[in-house]
Amino acid sequence: MNAKVGTIEICEVGPRDGLQSEPRLWSVEERIELIDKLSATGVSRIEAVSFVNPKRVPQMGDAEAVMAGITRNNAVIYAGLALNARGADRAVDAGVDELRYVVVASETFNQKNQGTTIEKTLADYRSIASRVREAGIKLSCTVGASFGCPFEGEVATEDVINIANQLVDGGALEIGLADTIGAAVPTQISNLITKVRMAVGNGIGLGCHLHNTRNTGFANAAAAATSGIDFLDASIGGIGGCPFAPQATGNIATEDLCFMLRNMGFATGVDIEKLIAVSHWAEQFFDSPLPGQVMKAGLFPEVVNLKA
Ligand code: ZN
Repeated sequence: MNAKVGTIEICEVGPRDGLQSEPRLWSVEERIELIDKLSATGVSRIEAVSFVNPKRVPQMGDAEAVMAGITRNNAVIYAGLALNARGADRAVDAGVDELRYVVVASETFNQKNQGTTIEKTLADYRSIASRVREAGIKLSCTVGASFGCPFEGEVATEDVINIANQLVDGGALEIGLADTIGAAVPTQISNLITKVRMAVGNGIGLGCHLHNTRNTGFANAAAAATSGIDFLDASIGGIGGCPFAPQATGNIATEDLCFMLRNMGFATGVDIEKLIAVSHWAEQFFDSPLPGQVMKAGLFPEVVNLKA
């Protein structure tokens, strides 16, 4: 195996992105159990909840009860997602460690996802950003549909950079570039990371949120890793989708990502065997097998060691 070539932080988004479009609503107790199991795997960040209107996304209802019910592990950052000022206020009150705020790079998708214009979403952001920072909460921002929009098609690099710059000006410590509909290819990932890095500077964390909709998710993650990304989102077992993006399938599976990164020489701090166990546990709540592959095939080269 390679010598360590760097560290990439993993943000486990299964409890949020993974469950938000599931036909079966997970109970508060089940969501708490999932988060607590994940927090024992060595993953350093979990996107645990989203503070959206439960009438629009009933799967994410009772976010406050979930946050209040989990057993906090001090080594883990618990993040909550917000799409507007109301959601951000709820996240602060619920005691998240990190607020993830989303602006979508295309106007049509932002209006479908956030229910308002990009301009209003950014104005909301400016109004809540100082309150979030004063509360000691880390501000991490995601530019949704950075690599393509299901309604408008291609997204201009300048639009992504323009939004990223405004988010950083408002106090975001990180920018996540989301391939919400899983349309990107590796060259696009490398190019956009390089350009956004030049725009926001080295002091800002950069990450990617990748979906495997067109089977490019892991190639994209490898491209992101070798382009100097700081963090990657992934969901346990590859569960998930987006309720407002047609045909958006699951995130890249966390255990598959951690296996790939480990064997490429990147440190993630995650115990992959423990992640696999959580995937198998979670699978019982789904009607069909989860998309994750390492949970089926097992790790390597550990299997060789077993035979020795
Ligand atoms: Zn997503």
